[in-house]
Order: sequence, then structure tokens, then C-alpha cells
Amino acid sequence: MCQHRPQCPNALASDRMAARVAVSHPEQGWSLLCNGIVLFDDAGVLLPGSQTLVPRVIDRPAKAALRTAA
Ligand SMILES: [Zn+2]
Repeated sequence: MCQHRPQCPNALASDRMAARVAVSHPEQGWSLLCNGIVLFDDAGVLLPGSQTLVPRVIDRPAKAALRTAA
């Protein structure tokens, strides 16, 4: 998907948020990164394959931040 050189980090890399924005819809509150991640204005993230990363809450354990959509 990414045409940049050097290539942007893939969606599963720890630095995945460093990928460039491919499509931006600020009026709808989301952007598509070139590695396939959909980034929402509330800091929510939709990964390719239907995984979501919910916005980080300080008092929530880190394990609860990653869940898989059914
Ligand atoms: Zn890229």
C-alpha cells in the first residue's frame, strides 16, 4: 500500500503511527495512514484486520487497550 521510499512502518510495527497520512477527512474525524491504519480524532485507532486500539486511559491496564472486534 505504501509507495514512499523509505517505506513507512507497517501497521503492526511499534512506530506504526509514523506513517504518512494518505487520506484525511477532518470534517468526519478520521484519517487513513498509508499503512492502512485509520486514525480517529479521539485517538482511537483501527488496524487492518478489524483490530482496534481504544484511546489510552491513564488508569486502565495496558492489556485492556488492545481488543479484537468480533
Ligand atoms: Zn508510506
